[in-house]
Amino acid sequence: MSDQPFVPLCVPSLSGNESRYIQQGLDSTFVSSVGPFVDQFEQQFAQFVGSRHAVACSSGTAALHVAMRLLDVGPGDEVLVPTLTFIASANPIAYERATPVFIDAEPRTWNLDCPAVIDEILRRAAAGIKQPKAVEIVHILGHPADMAELVDVCDAHGVAIIEDAAESLGASYRSGPLAGRHVGTIGRVGCFSFNGNKIMTTGGGGMIVTDDESLARRAKHLTTQAKLPGIEYRHDEIGYNYRLTNLAAAMGVAQLEQMPTFLQRKRKIADRYDRALGQLPGITIPPSADWAEPSCWLYTILIDAERFGTDARGLIAQFESEAIQTRPLWQPLHRQPMFRDAPRLGGEVAERLAAEGLSLPCSVDLTPEQQDRVLAVMERCAGRLAADAA
Ligand SMILES: *Cc1c(COP(=O)(O)O)cnc(C)c1O
Repeated sequence: MSDQPFVPLCVPSLSGNESRYIQQGLDSTFVSSVGPFVDQFEQQFAQFVGSRHAVACSSGTAALHVAMRLLDVGPGDEVLVPTLTFIASANPIAYERATPVFIDAEPRTWNLDCPAVIDEILRRAAAGIKQPKAVEIVHILGHPADMAELVDVCDAHGVAIIEDAAESLGASYRSGPLAGRHVGTIGRVGCFSFNGNKIMTTGGGGMIVTDDESLARRAKHLTTQAKLPGIEYRHDEIGYNYRLTNLAAAMGVAQLEQMPTFLQRKRKIADRYDRALGQLPGITIPPSADWAEPSCWLYTILIDAERFGTDARGLIAQFESEAIQTRPLWQPLHRQPMFRDAPRLGGEVAERLAAEGLSLPCSVDLTPEQQDRVLAVMERCAGRLAADAA
């Protein structure tokens, strides 16, 4: 065991106005799901990502669940979703008793294989097969999915797009048809998460964004028990208690103020890792397409065990013995027991990425010294001297 201080994978940075705003929330006695910080957070968030409307929720998962309801996803419907993502991308499809269809990842950005989705939609159109109700595009690890062409095909065939942008707040498109647009603002509904490990946090929370005013109004309605206005307890559909509290929103406002700094720091950390790790044999540094402006949320590399000398699981154990937290990528969702019988298209790329992926410490407040320690382990495991790559 190491006697060095622990380096966590990805923890929040809370040195802005968090405690001041939360104290204001306490002082105002608006601690629950109504209050000025909720409105302020929604407005400022919409402005930050460039969306007309934003509706705060209790989690990213809740946001995705509401998104399914907004698009009337229900029993008998199919939703195409990548197999290489966190489980919360797919569970809301199952909550509504719809069928997830798992799509492989593509090797360039590790996101949903959009050309495969286009082929599937065109194949169904030609054969007269019912189209999926929606495609859920997940922007994983901070890198935008290459979705421009898919948007047109979905439009032409009446397939709605939901974006799970939980991991990629702040990422956008640099060039091409989506130039200047933030992830989450392209489909009919976009969802974000403010869980503790995400680039900004409210402790727990999420956001739904949309340009469609009626969808935004319905989102707010569904998250507040679908209660009709007035003092009588009248509800016109099944709703949820999914609102974000004013205290959590106070924290959100403070975190959002720091997003430009957070993004800068994430990109700087990634840049330093890229330069050092790009030199090591058998290491693939994270994708960064020339048309994309990634947020660099969770710094993840691929390890070719044969060329590097150790596989991802071996490295995790090595890091653990040095008090450094690392993580593998997710097991593909088509491998999870409750989704084992779900239809899928491919999955081999996702399985390779899951076997080879390793996420390294990349908290916004990671120090150069902590990063040195991570790099030293990588260099030692690669059988090279630390001095070599410096
Ligand atoms: C974190 C995450 C979610 C869920 O967000 P919570 O706020 O934890 O409910 C959904 N999708 C992806 C891809 C995520 O990483």
